[in-house]
Amino acid sequence: KSFKELGLVEQLVEACDSLGWKNPSKIQAEAIPHALEGKDLIGLAQTGSGKTGAFALPILQALLAAAAAVPPVQHAFFACVLSPTRELAIQIAEQFEALGSSISLKTAVLVGGVDHVQQSIALGKRPHIVVATPGRLVDHLSNTKGFSLRTIKYLVLDEADRLLNEDFEKSLDEILNAIPRERRTYLFSATMTKKVQKLQRACLRNPVKIEA
Ligand code: AMP
Repeated sequence: KSFKELGLVEQLVEACDSLGWKNPSKIQAEAIPHALEGKDLIGLAQTGSGKTGAFALPILQALLAAAAAVPPVQHAFFACVLSPTRELAIQIAEQFEALGSSISLKTAVLVGGVDHVQQSIALGKRPHIVVATPGRLVDHLSNTKGFSLRTIKYLVLDEADRLLNEDFEKSLDEILNAIPRERRTYLFSATMTKKVQKLQRACLRNPVKIEA
């Protein structure tokens, strides 16, 4: 199937085309139709499978639909993506920006080892997408004025097995308490451990399970 046949709007089909993505990867082909129907997702997938596109494209389509209802594209803090490492967070934000370049998508990356002040300035510009490591996100929730997760419609837990291995559990709890229950949640993991299953039960509603 083509990206168009998966149900993506023309603007996003063109964005894939301009990145040289000719056909959806397996995980994209399986995930995107369910995501566009409004389902929560559990994806068993590794880096390299195209999993970022699998969650970014449905989120961007929802953002476009929200923006059509209330133009221009405002909807700050629309989606929050949690990543275990700063390198992965940066890559995810880059893919969002590449796919969203035609709508002047704004992203902010909140990771450790980088100046808080610069990140607070990025949040002040009211990005649509926040990509963060859990510890630093919690930091900003407590310390950056005007920043909250109350408007978030989409939560992505990327590399959930690693999120749980790296002692982010306490931060994850705080984030889940600060984020609306009325939201969609996508959980991606390379492995399905006991801890990931527990997180899944705590965060997802009737998820569809897909594999790369
Ligand atoms: P990911 O697994 O999301 O980290 O993606 C790995 C790489 O595959 C990234 O460089 C993407 O730009 C690229 N990619 C994602 N989806 C596709 C696709 N459908 N066709 C070609 N390349 C893709």
